[in-house]
Amino acid sequence: MKIVDIEVIELRVPPMDQECTWGEDALLVKVTTDTGLVGIGESDTSPMVARAVIEAPSSNLYCSGLKSLLIGENPLEIQKLWDKMYWGSNYLGRRGAGIHAISAIDIALWDIASQFYQVPIHMLLGGKYREKIKAYGTFIPVEEPIENKKIAKKLKEQGFTSLKFGGGVMGDYDDVDYEIVKAIREEVGDEFELQIDLASKWNTYGRAAKMFKRLEKFNLNWIEEPILADDMKGYAKLSGLTGAKIAGGESLTTRYEFKDFLEYAQPDIVQPDITRCGGISEMRKIFDLAVMNGTKLVPHGFSTGILLAATVQFLAATQEGDLMEYSQSDSPLFTDLVKNLLPFENGYISVPDCIGLGVELDEELIKKYRVN
Ligand SMILES: [Mg+2]
Repeated sequence: MKIVDIEVIELRVPPMDQECTWGEDALLVKVTTDTGLVGIGESDTSPMVARAVIEAPSSNLYCSGLKSLLIGENPLEIQKLWDKMYWGSNYLGRRGAGIHAISAIDIALWDIASQFYQVPIHMLLGGKYREKIKAYGTFIPVEEPIENKKIAKKLKEQGFTSLKFGGGVMGDYDDVDYEIVKAIREEVGDEFELQIDLASKWNTYGRAAKMFKRLEKFNLNWIEEPILADDMKGYAKLSGLTGAKIAGGESLTTRYEFKDFLEYAQPDIVQPDITRCGGISEMRKIFDLAVMNGTKLVPHGFSTGILLAATVQFLAATQEGDLMEYSQSDSPLFTDLVKNLLPFENGYISVPDCIGLGVELDEELIKKYRVN
């Protein structure tokens, strides 16, 4: 079996000249083989940048577009091809968008392998530890603190026992952050599991430390990305400052970045995104590092149903992989791109025994939002 084509599909809901936010654009890849088997993958990144990483012609030994490296190769040699992509893009890649693009292709290769061997991906990864995975819901809060009560109430009624909110205005003004957390805590009650996500917008250790103390009475389960992941000393100093756990790492890629982050930042929870960190192959290595550092891995995931399907297959085959994120984005790329989106039911996502990722794409929706 040989790879004969890699198609890159860029999707975007708002027009190019208008603001776009999390969940409103996506990069998909379709890896086609000479047998007719097709693998699907995605990366939650800047679609146009990742597209260039894949489609660029070769400039030299270490500046090759990923497609030029893979045409003619056997898609079943997943690790060998991962290494080939890593080495062949080493000047332009190694971190960031270079690895985001590799992630999309790696996921597509696992999709192909599962179809070829006719066993689920979780089986290829070593076996299924669980039938369902607990999911927490993530939403972007609205500006008026009190209005967030309605969102939280609705999600609690849907069966969520754990919620996270962040993005939007969170992190802009300390007093607004305080009021949003207060309103939502009042709505869901004292016992409910709540997480907040600052997307690094508290910027400095000093501001984060002050906010940690101010929010302590709201009994948060974790505080995510209070500061930039590069400020590893800042993370380490925040650790243990309050009862809340510290989470982070969604912006990091490869075992190399996660090794440093786990050792020096000492987070309680690490959150690689399977569509950014290097795909399913690299995620497994990062998981082992997390275990060796006494840190729980809870994957980041706020994009399409492709990311969701890949994350579920990975976690199912992971000994401690019992918690995941479930986007509450109303973007059509989350709600409708995958026609058989894995459903949230009574607090959990069931692990399907499907062949491949099992995602059925809505080709009409792709036509509608495709960037040409
Ligand atoms: Mg986050």
